Amino acid sequence: HWGSCCPVICVVGSGPAGFYTAQHILKHHDLAQVDIYEKLPVPFGLVRFGVAPDHPEVKNVINTFTHTARSDRCAYYGNVTVGRDITVGELQQAYHAVVLSYGAEDNRVLGIPGENLSGVYSARAFVGWYNGLPENRDLKPDLSCETALILGHGNVALDIARILLSPLDFLRKTDITDCSLAALARSKVKRVWLAGRRGPLQVAFTIKELREMINLPGTQPVLNPADFTGLENAVKDAPRPRKRLTELMIKTALEKPREKAAMAQAAIPRQWGLKFQRSPQEMLPTTDGTRVRGVRMALTRLEGLGDSAKAVPTGDMEELECGLVLSSIGYRSLPLDPAVPFDTQHGVIPNSLGRVTGVPGLYCSGWVKRGPVGVIITTMNDSFDTAQSVLEDLQGGVLDVSISREGFGAVGSILRSRGIRPVSFSDWEKIDAAEVARGKAAGKPREKIVDPQEMLQLIGH
Ligand code: FAD
Repeated sequence: HWGSCCPVICVVGSGPAGFYTAQHILKHHDLAQVDIYEKLPVPFGLVRFGVAPDHPEVKNVINTFTHTARSDRCAYYGNVTVGRDITVGELQQAYHAVVLSYGAEDNRVLGIPGENLSGVYSARAFVGWYNGLPENRDLKPDLSCETALILGHGNVALDIARILLSPLDFLRKTDITDCSLAALARSKVKRVWLAGRRGPLQVAFTIKELREMINLPGTQPVLNPADFTGLENAVKDAPRPRKRLTELMIKTALEKPREKAAMAQAAIPRQWGLKFQRSPQEMLPTTDGTRVRGVRMALTRLEGLGDSAKAVPTGDMEELECGLVLSSIGYRSLPLDPAVPFDTQHGVIPNSLGRVTGVPGLYCSGWVKRGPVGVIITTMNDSFDTAQSVLEDLQGGVLDVSISREGFGAVGSILRSRGIRPVSFSDWEKIDAAEVARGKAAGKPREKIVDPQEMLQLIGH
C-alpha cells in the first residue's frame, strides 16, 4: 500500500439531502470526489417536484446545488435508478462510502374503504401532477366538482388548497405545468375543506403558509369560532410559533367583518376552511359506484394535551359531501435494496448520526434518514451531520482509503453493459436551458418537460 488515495464517495439521490451531503464533504475534504446518482434525468428532487410553483424563492437553493455540481470534484449521473440499474452492493464495491439520500417516494394510505374510487388522489400524486413529475403527468384529476376535501393539516395540504383556489393570474407566471394550468382554468372547485383528526393546537402547518391562505384574493376563510373557544388561554405558555399560529387562527375565526367588507365578502366566489376532530372512515361512492361523492367521518375527542394528544372516536359520525378528495397524510420512504436494513414500521433506514446500523461504509441522510418531515433547512442540517460522520470515519480510519476504488470507472462499465446511459450535469443544463426558453414566451420562469423520453431526445441520447 502507498498510503491513502483520494476518497471516492457515492451519493444516491439529488434532492436537498444528496446535494447538502455532497457540499459538506467537498468543503471539508480537499481530495474527496463525490458522485451523485439520480433516478430521474433531472436533479433536485422535491425542490423541483414538491415545492409549490408559487414559492419560487424557496427554489433558490438550486443555485447552491448547481455550484456544488459544477465543482470539478463532483459529478452528477442522472437517469440511473439505484436498486434496479445498479445495486447498492455494486456501489459499495466501487466507492469508499455510499450515502443513501433517496427521499420518500411513496405516500401513507388511510386504509379505508373506497380509497381507490375515482376522484380520490394522494397529495403526493396531485403535487407531482401540477409540478410535472413524470410519473404523475397523466393523472388528469377530475376538477368538475365544487367542493374538495383535503385530509391533513400540514403545509402540503395548504399548498394544495392554495393551488386549487388561487386566481389563475397568480399561477400563470409560475413554473406550474401548462397542462395543469389548463385543467385549473376549467376547474369548478370553489370550496376547499381541510380536515384533521385532531384540533387547532395540533395543526402541523406554519404561520407563513396560513397567512398566505387567509390573504388569498377572491377567497374567504371559514373557521368555526366554537373550535377556538378557550384556546387563547391554552396557548399562553406554548412555544412562540404555536402561540402566534393559534392566535392568527383565533383572530381569523372571530373577526367580525365590518358591514362594507361583509358585503364585499358576499361576492367572494371561493371559500376554504379548517375542520377539526374528524377522522375519515369511508369514501362514499356515487349511486353508480363510479366516483366519490363524500366522506364518512368519525367525530373525535382529544385525550391528552398538546402535540401528544390522541384523537379518540366519540361514536358520532358525519357525512361530508365532496367530489374530490386529496389525502395529505404524509409521504413514505421505501426500502431500496435487500442489502440495506430498513425499519418498515417507521419507514426509515436505521442509523446513528447517519451511519447505517450494522453496515460500515453505508450512510443515509434526509427524509430516508429521519422520516418525511421537515423543511429544506432541517434536511440541510441533518445532511451536514451525516457528512460529518463520513469525514470522521475517513479521518479515523474506519473507511479504508488505502485501497483505491474506481468509482464511476467501475459503475460506468456496469451501466453500459446494462444499456443504461447516465445524464451528466451539463446534459441537465441543456434541458434546463430548453425549459427556460419554452417558458419565456408565456412569461414563465420555465415550462417543464414532463416526458423523460423527450428530455433524453433533447440531449441526443
Ligand atoms: P427528495 O427531495 O425527495 O430527494 C430524493 C431524490 O432521490 C429525488 O430526486 C429522487 O428522484 C431520488 N431517488 C429516489 N429513488 C432513487 C433511486 N432508487 N435511485 C436514485 N435516485 C433516487 N421545504 C421547504 O423548506 N419549503 C417548502 O416550501 C417545501 N415545500 C414542500 C412541498 C411538498 C409537496 C413536499 C413533499 C415537501 C416540501 N418541503 C419544503 C420539504 C422538502 O422538500 C424536503 O425537506 C426535502 O426535499 C427532503 O430532501 P431529500 O433529499 O431527503 O428528498
